[in-house]
Amino acid sequence: MQEREPAGERTFRGIALAGGVAHARVLRISQGAPEIPQHTLDESQTEAELERFQAALVATRHQIQEVQRRVTAAMGAQEAGIFEAHLLVLEDVALLSQVKALIRDQHRNAEFAFHQVVNRYASALDAAEDEYLRERAADLRDVSSRVLNQLLGLSSESELSRLREPVVVVAHDITPSMTAMIDRTKVLGFATDVGGKTSHTAIMARKLRIPAVAGLGDASRRVQTGDYALVDGHGGVLVVHPTDATLFQYGQIRERHAALEQRLADLRDQAAVTLDGTRLILASNIEEPADVAAVRASGSEGVGLFRTEFLWLNHAEAPDEEQQYQAYRTVVTACAPAPVVIRTLDLGGDKAFPGLPVDANPFLGWRAIRISLSRPDLFRTQLRAILRASAHGCAKLMYPMISSVEELLAANRLLESCRNELRAEGIAFDPTMEVGAMIEIPSAALIAGALAPHVQFFSLGTNDLTQYTLAVDRMNERVAHLHAPTHPAVLRLIQMTVAAARERGAWVGVCGEMAGDPAALPLLVGLGVDELSATPAVIPAAKFLLRRMRTSEARELAERALKMASADEIQKLSQEFARSIAPELFDAAS
Ligand code: PEP
Ligand code: MG
Repeated sequence: MQEREPAGERTFRGIALAGGVAHARVLRISQGAPEIPQHTLDESQTEAELERFQAALVATRHQIQEVQRRVTAAMGAQEAGIFEAHLLVLEDVALLSQVKALIRDQHRNAEFAFHQVVNRYASALDAAEDEYLRERAADLRDVSSRVLNQLLGLSSESELSRLREPVVVVAHDITPSMTAMIDRTKVLGFATDVGGKTSHTAIMARKLRIPAVAGLGDASRRVQTGDYALVDGHGGVLVVHPTDATLFQYGQIRERHAALEQRLADLRDQAAVTLDGTRLILASNIEEPADVAAVRASGSEGVGLFRTEFLWLNHAEAPDEEQQYQAYRTVVTACAPAPVVIRTLDLGGDKAFPGLPVDANPFLGWRAIRISLSRPDLFRTQLRAILRASAHGCAKLMYPMISSVEELLAANRLLESCRNELRAEGIAFDPTMEVGAMIEIPSAALIAGALAPHVQFFSLGTNDLTQYTLAVDRMNERVAHLHAPTHPAVLRLIQMTVAAARERGAWVGVCGEMAGDPAALPLLVGLGVDELSATPAVIPAAKFLLRRMRTSEARELAERALKMASADEIQKLSQEFARSIAPELFDAAS
C-alpha cells in the first residue's frame, strides 16, 4: 500500500537537467514493478474475468507484433527473432491453463493469478543449469509485465504523445525514446527519480526547452497524477502543491530569465568572436530536420553534431537510404553555406532500440561504430545517404565512439567503397567532404596523433569522454557529482587532442554538453578548440560570453587549471572567470 503523504507544500531536491520553471498538474507515468491487487471474485464474475484476461493476451500479442515489425524494418529479421520467443509465451498452454484454473476454480482476479503462475515458472527457470532456460526467464518476465500493464490499465509511455492538457510528467525514469514522443505543447516539465546531467534524456530536455530535474529519489512514488507541481530546472527542485509565496518567488525568476533572453536575442547576427579577435565557430547540436529552425533562430553557424540515431528512435520504422538522404539533405540545404556535421549511427548505450541486444554494460557494449562496422548493410545505407546529401551544401561526416586506428580505417574503407559505388551509378556527391572522428574514449585522445592523418577534424564528445575517463556512468544520479568534465584528467586529454590535431593540420570541435556550459566554456577556449557545438537553446548565452572574453586570459585560465588537481577547484576557477565577465548569465536563475 502507498503511504498517505502530508498535505501542503513538499519539496524534492535533485539534479538540474534543463533550465526553466514549469507549473502544471502531474501525470505520473508508471514503470517498474506495479503493485498487484489481490481479491476474490464472486462465482458470477469469473467468466467476465476470464474474458478480460483473454483480451489482455490479445492486446499484448498486438503490441509485441508491432515492436517486432519495427525491429525487423530497422535491424533485420535476425535481431527481431527474440520476439518470437515472447510471442510463444502467450501461447504456452500449460502456463495459461494454470492461470485460468486459478481464476475459474479459486476465483482469483486475473492480475494476481497471472503474476503468481509467471513467478513460479520464472523462479524455476532462473534456477536451471542450462543458460538457454535461464534466458527464457527474462523473456517470461518481459512479456508478463506487458500483460500486467494491460490488465491494470496503467498509463504507459505511449500516453505522452496523446495528451489533452498541459502536464508535468513525473516518472521513475524517462528514456530518450520516450522524450522523442513528447508533445512539447503539453509536457511543460518533467521530473524523474534517476538520471544524470548528460544522459540523452537530459540533452533532449534542453533541446526541447522543457524544464527538467532528475535524481529525486522516490518522488515518483510519492506524487500522484492530478497533484499540482512546479519543476525548477535551474535549481533541480520539484515542489508539489506549491504555496502562493513559492509561486510568486518562481514567477520572479521566470521574469528575470525572459528579460535576459530578450537581451541575448539581440546577438543573433553577431559573430562569435572574442575581444582580442579569435573567431570561433559556434554551431548547434540537433537530432532531426525539424530542429533546423531553432539552429537559425539561435544565431549559430550550422550544425556541429547531427545525432542521426534519433531518426530511428523517433519513427516507427528505420529510415531507408532515400528517407535518410531526404532528412540529411533538408538540413544541409537549409544551413548552406554553413557546415553540417552528420554523425553516423550512435545507437546503444542509453539509446536502446527495441530488439537491440541489451548488454549487461550497455555503454561498454555494442554501441555506435561497433554496431555500424558489424552491420555493413546498415552502415553503407547511411554512408550513401550522407554522401548524396553532401552534393547540396557543406556536409561533413563524423564517426562516433572511435577507439582505435583499425576502426577508423575500416569505416573509411567502407566510405570509399560507397563513393566508388555512387560514382559508378552516376550519382552526385561532394568528393571533398570532410571526415572526422569523435574523441570520446580516452584511448582515442591518447592516440589522436595516429588518428589525425586519416581525418580532417576531431570533435570532442566530453559527455562520454568524462564518463569513460572517470569511470562514471553518465546516467546514474548516485555518481552524478563525480561526472566532472573539469577533472584535470579530462582537460589533459582535451589538451593532447588539440595538440595532435594542430600538428597534423586537423581542426577540433567540442560537441559535448561542456561546450554549452558558460561555467566551463572558457577552459575550452583556453585549450585552443576551434568550434563549440551545443543545443540551440544555449547558443545565445555562449555567444554573449565569448564576445566578452579575451582569448589570452582564457589561455592563462587553462594553464592554471592544468596545474590544479581538483575538478571542483577548476570548475570554481572557470565559473568565477565567466561570472566576472558575464554576471548576468549566472544571476538570472537565483
Ligand atoms: C558526447 O559523448 O559528448 C557526445 C556529444 O555524444 P553523445 O552525447 O550523443 O553520446
Ligand atoms: Mg557520445
